[in-house]
Amino acid sequence: MGASSGIGEATAKLLAQHDTKLVLAARRIDSLKAIKEAYPEANIHIQQADVTNFEDVKKVAQLALDTFGKIDVLYNNAGIMPTAPIIEGRRDEWKQMLDINIMGVLNGIAAVIPFMAEQKSGHIIATDSLAGHVVYPDSAVYCGTKFAVRAIMEGLRQEQRENNIKSTIISPGAVATELYNTINDKDVAEKVHQMQIESGLIPEDIASAVMFAISTPDRMSISDMIIRPTSQQ
Ligand code: NDP
Repeated sequence: MGASSGIGEATAKLLAQHDTKLVLAARRIDSLKAIKEAYPEANIHIQQADVTNFEDVKKVAQLALDTFGKIDVLYNNAGIMPTAPIIEGRRDEWKQMLDINIMGVLNGIAAVIPFMAEQKSGHIIATDSLAGHVVYPDSAVYCGTKFAVRAIMEGLRQEQRENNIKSTIISPGAVATELYNTINDKDVAEKVHQMQIESGLIPEDIASAVMFAISTPDRMSISDMIIRPTSQQ
């Protein structure tokens, strides 16, 4: 989920190069089509989906089941980051973040977990953030959503380990992607964009971590990978 740009797109492309069977989902269907067309030999299916809409998310899971017969991995990557100081009271943005960053992850889990439990195998990955470990000024609500995702994924791990279902969060520092475009305050967006570029991390770095987490043997489960830019404190 969230495969149309940035970390999700880079992960889709890396996995496509390694013959992984993929269902890619996001709202921007044209971006998903472009990824599919770039890898004509790969086994890629695409589905337009808004992660806040459970019916959409169930369609993605059903497409994977109908096409491949099982679901090995769900990558819950969709997210937005309209940061602003709490004093501004941007309740619409807070709600959007809660809906996409938290409910989106829960919708993905709800759509696949019955099938994974029946299979007695599966792996659910979520893109969390350093902001799920540390709170930054002017980012309280975004951090809150990422702290919540960390708690949910740890709860999932504890509850589903006996069904051989792995739960992994990937927690990157700043990565150069379009994410800054979701910040509505232009000055803040520009500052975050600069920080993302200066960090030096690129989406492909995170994609390689996702691929590593996926490729571990059944006995080995990575709960959290914190990926900092080397230069970051
Ligand atoms: P991008 O903006 O490039 O990617 C965000 C992805 O989420 C897009 O594919 C977008 O697709 C998808 N998305 C957003 N809202 C929805 C929705 N309602 N339904 C379906 N898909 C949605 O940014 P990143 O690659 O940086 O972000 C990916 C994840 O990484 C996010 O969870 C973010 O919080 C996290 N992260 C990013 C960091 C960074 O510095 N870049 C650092 C730490 C974590 P579409 O718009 O087509 O629907």
